[in-house]
Amino acid sequence: MADRGYRPETLAVRAGQERSQFNEHGEALYLTSSFVFDSAAQAARRFSGEEDGNVYSRFSNPTVTMFEERLAALEGAEDCVAFSSGMAAIMALCLAHLKAGDHIVASSSLFGATVQLFNNILGRAGIATTFVSPTDPAAWRAAIRPETRLFFLETPSNPLTEIADIRSLADIAHDRGIRVAVDNCFCTPILQRPLELGADLVVHSATKFLDGQGRVLGGAVCGAKKHTEEVFKYLRTAGPTLSAFNAWVLLKGLETLKIRIEAQSANALRLARWLEAHPQVARVFYPGLPSHPQHELAMRQQKSGGAIVTFEVKGGRAEAWRVVDSCQLLSITANLGDTKTTITHPASTTHGRISPEARAAAGISEGLLRVAVGLEAVEDLQADLDRGLSTL
Ligand SMILES: *Cc1c(COP(=O)(O)O)cnc(C)c1O
Repeated sequence: MADRGYRPETLAVRAGQERSQFNEHGEALYLTSSFVFDSAAQAARRFSGEEDGNVYSRFSNPTVTMFEERLAALEGAEDCVAFSSGMAAIMALCLAHLKAGDHIVASSSLFGATVQLFNNILGRAGIATTFVSPTDPAAWRAAIRPETRLFFLETPSNPLTEIADIRSLADIAHDRGIRVAVDNCFCTPILQRPLELGADLVVHSATKFLDGQGRVLGGAVCGAKKHTEEVFKYLRTAGPTLSAFNAWVLLKGLETLKIRIEAQSANALRLARWLEAHPQVARVFYPGLPSHPQHELAMRQQKSGGAIVTFEVKGGRAEAWRVVDSCQLLSITANLGDTKTTITHPASTTHGRISPEARAAAGISEGLLRVAVGLEAVEDLQADLDRGLSTL
């Protein structure tokens, strides 16, 4: 099927599908490690790349290819390379684009494992990172060195939902020949398409909204072929491959992505409004609320506020934990993007390894709670949160 020109809801259920000779209606799951050739000559042509076709599932499998093409279509990307997890995708992106001596400018509000990857693993490999505020483009410009090769950001940030202005940062980067990579995990291509805003590469943890039902891990890098070619070569050689089974699950996840994230965002907006009016809530961080300091930018850049709502209870750790421990419906887990609503106390979990001073400087207070809103009735979520809030 010619993928381009269709709307996202059509692409999500149709793009990328290749039927076999059996003309199956659903996408086939190809559980095979390798592929056979008609002849020695064909094997040689496949290995050299002279002839397209599958060789070995470390770097090509028809089910994985269908997932890659469907996600590429949704991101408006020329190409996509899938990985075994979001972290594997970020690692691949960095090692494909950077070498010892190069420098990254990155948002100071990144997923915890990404910070560890940059500081420890890439740091040891001679790739240095400077972290700057996602909301301060001048700080990104000031952090550029002659050896800077990559800007790396997430927007909205976790857990405070700060918004980075992708277009402004892309303009700053491109003036100096620097590439821009956006981790689009929180918004997904349904709410935000970073490539259209000037980013060069989009990275995903498919584990979150793309699956959306807590089943499998996966990751992906999307972009123009000239930016993904080296990423594919890294996959082929290093092997952090997405399994065919997980790709098949993710293909089915993409089919419902739009209705899920739109419904979850609508639930999040209603929950955020309710929290903002709650007497035991000190502050709500949600890009869809007019009280968010970057509400206008968020509404320009994203189709809605997304499904993550963060709020500060009146009080500290004890009060926040009481709200968590009073929940009977919300799952106490750091995962996000699921149809089941989850609640996390960032200061003692996802951001627990950071020093208390650094945490305070980053605005992660002891009373902060992050809710990743799912598909339950908002009234039931409110009642569950109120169980603890009303006792404060
Ligand atoms: C979860 C997550 C990752 C890492 O993805 P995995 O699939 O767990 O490896 C990267 N970035 C963000 C924003 C995430 O939420």
